[in-house]
Amino acid sequence: MLIVMKSGATPEEVSGVVRNVEQLGFRAHVMPGATRTAVGVTGNQGAVESARFENLPGVFEAIRVSKPYKLITLDLQPDQTVVRVGDATIGGDELAIIAGPCAVESREQTLAVAKTVQESGARFLRGGAFKPRSSPYDFAGLGEEGLQILAEARDALGLKIVTEALDSPGVDLVEQYADMIQVGARNMQNFTLLRRVGKSKLPVLLKRGIAATIDEWLLAAECIMAEGNYQVVLCERGVRTFAHHTRNTLDLAAVPTIRHVSHLPIIVDASHAAGKSQLVAPLARAGVAAGADGLMIEVHNDPGTARCDAAQALTPAEYLKTVREVRGIHRLLLETPNE
Ligand code: PEP
Ligand code: MN
Repeated sequence: MLIVMKSGATPEEVSGVVRNVEQLGFRAHVMPGATRTAVGVTGNQGAVESARFENLPGVFEAIRVSKPYKLITLDLQPDQTVVRVGDATIGGDELAIIAGPCAVESREQTLAVAKTVQESGARFLRGGAFKPRSSPYDFAGLGEEGLQILAEARDALGLKIVTEALDSPGVDLVEQYADMIQVGARNMQNFTLLRRVGKSKLPVLLKRGIAATIDEWLLAAECIMAEGNYQVVLCERGVRTFAHHTRNTLDLAAVPTIRHVSHLPIIVDASHAAGKSQLVAPLARAGVAAGADGLMIEVHNDPGTARCDAAQALTPAEYLKTVREVRGIHRLLLETPNE
C-alpha cells in the first residue's frame, strides 16, 4: 500500500497516517518529496483496504501496490534519492567517484593510494579490510587493523571511507571506522546481513550479485529499506556470462533500467566488470555515458605487487586520466538539455 498525501498536508496529518498504519501492526515509511509526501506501508501479508486511509485528513489517495517492491520505486518517491555521506553526495549533480585499492595491504600502500584519490578530486576512498576471496588461501584482508588504516587516511585527507562488511559482527566494526558500508556481490542475498545494514545509520553500497536479476537486486535493496535505512546506493559490477574476455559482463542496460523503476542512485564498478586494467577506462566512460551517478575504480600505487585483484588495478597515472575523461563526459551530459 502506498499512501499519497495532498501537496499541502501538514506534519500532523502525516503523523496521523503513520499512527493509523502502526495501529494495524504495520510499518510506515515516510518519504518526503518536492511536491508531496508519500507513506509506504510494509509488513502487511495480504491486501489492505484503501478506504481505511483515504478518509484520513491530508490523504490524497491510497494505492494498492501489486509489484513485489514498494520502497525502492518511483511510485513512492518520484524524486531521485541523494545519498549524503557527510558533505559528499551520491545521486546529485556531482559524479561520485569511489576509488582505492582492492584491499588495504599496509599503511604506506593505503596512504599512497589515498593521496592519488584525493588528487583526482574524488570524495570517497574504498579499500577492503575484510575480503571475500574465492580461495581460502588468498589474502583475506587485515581486519580491524585495515579499518584503522582507512580511518587514518580519512583523517589525514578528508576522504569518506567505503568498505565491505562480510557479516553482522563485521558491520559492528565497520560502523566504528567507516562512512559507508559495502555489501559485496557474494552477499547480495545474505538476508541476515541485509537486515543488519538496514538497521545501520550508515549508508549502504549494495553490489549486484554475480548472477542476480534486476528484480532480485532491487528486492535486496528493498530488504535494507524495509528495516528503515533509506540511504542505499546500487552498484552494477558485471554478471557472469559465457564470455571469457572480461571477468564479468558489465550490464550497462541495468543503469537506465534501474532509473526507470527506482529513485535509488546507481553507480558502475568498472574494475570488477573488466578484470583487466586496459578495459577499465572504456567501461568507466561507458558507465557515465549510460547515466550512472558514479563509478567505483580500483587503483594501486604499485599494481605489480597488489595482493588482491592486481590485473585490474590502474596505476595512479591511468586512474587520474580516467577520472578526467569521465568528468568530461559527465559535464557534457549535464550541459545537454534533456527535453
Ligand atoms: C570489491 O569491491 O573489492 C569486491 C570484492 O567486489 P564484488 O563484491 O563486486 O566482487
Ligand atoms: Mn577487488
